[in-house]
Amino acid sequence: MKKHNFYAGPSILSQYTIKNTADAVLNFADTGLSILEVSHRSKEFQAVMDEAQALVKELLDVPAGYSVLFLGGGASLQFAMVPYNLMRTKAAYLDTGVWAHKAIKEAKLFGEVDVVASSEDRNYNYIPKGYAVPDDADYFHYTTNNTIYGTEIRKDPETKVRLVADMSSDIFSRPVDVAKYDLIYAGAQKNLAPAGATLIIVRDEVLNNPPRPIPTMLNYKTHVDKGSMFNTPPVLPIFSALQTLRYYKEMGGVKELEKFDLAKAAKLYEAIDSSKVFQATVPDHEDRSIMNVCFVMKPEYAELEKQFMELATSKGIVGIKGHRSVGGFRASLYNALPMESVDALVAAMKEFENKL
Ligand SMILES: *Cc1c(COP(=O)(O)O)cnc(C)c1O
Repeated sequence: MKKHNFYAGPSILSQYTIKNTADAVLNFADTGLSILEVSHRSKEFQAVMDEAQALVKELLDVPAGYSVLFLGGGASLQFAMVPYNLMRTKAAYLDTGVWAHKAIKEAKLFGEVDVVASSEDRNYNYIPKGYAVPDDADYFHYTTNNTIYGTEIRKDPETKVRLVADMSSDIFSRPVDVAKYDLIYAGAQKNLAPAGATLIIVRDEVLNNPPRPIPTMLNYKTHVDKGSMFNTPPVLPIFSALQTLRYYKEMGGVKELEKFDLAKAAKLYEAIDSSKVFQATVPDHEDRSIMNVCFVMKPEYAELEKQFMELATSKGIVGIKGHRSVGGFRASLYNALPMESVDALVAAMKEFENKL
């Protein structure tokens, strides 16, 4: 049976990515060797790295003066690397969920953290508005998409200070005005590649004059100076990332991906909002994520959750269990998810309702 993969991360990848990765595991670039057993210094892999970096720049329209890196350690390592490299005395953070919270915890090791606003009071089911970022902060950090709670900020903020964003779960789902940012990071396993690589886009200039001595591997400059090849990079995830980036280009780039993602999300939210059984956990439409759609059973149907899960499973729908801190369901609609899978989920919801 065809599976409909709604996992939040690691998550669905395009068939193009999976097929080409599988082929390269057997024979990489006609070397007669597997991608798993070639030197990262080989000319064949250098070509992979070069093209992957160039395609990130092309797809996101990255201006001159920025570098693209693929590092290990996950997005979680960036929670520490960002303040290590960029914080002198004080940084401002927006607290919109578990990931933002973890970033704040790490930043506190390096200086004063001004949490400009938080939506923790309502279990992070909205995006705080009307907060002010202090002018004397070294940078402002926010999470564009809150994977666990299904909220998203889809407009690049205006700030006077340097801007840093965790775009792990919505990168490549819309055009981004990269010039507004000094650093963007994203774990690969949500919209790009298998786990193991983290994409970083950094303005080179911010790395001059570091605030403190930084261990070599945690210093962005080390990696920028060596074209992300200071040490052995995550070869396989980078190869897969390249396939996804080629696929995104083939699809027409991020503007087209955004149209597609908006259409998928609109269809699912519409089914939830018009349902007598289900309800969305994020009330304000403006704050709703187009990547992770969170919903629960209305209180009067709460005990039917398991039954719906069983029906969904019988239809090949996998990965819709909500994160434990929200409960209910979460359908992740990453770029590679076909409309057909959204249709399957909506059909299962309707079938369930009609049986009641
Ligand atoms: C998944 C996720 C992370 C953590 O990523 P790791 O690569 O597992 O460290 C951080 N931020 C956001 C927004 C995420 O969705």
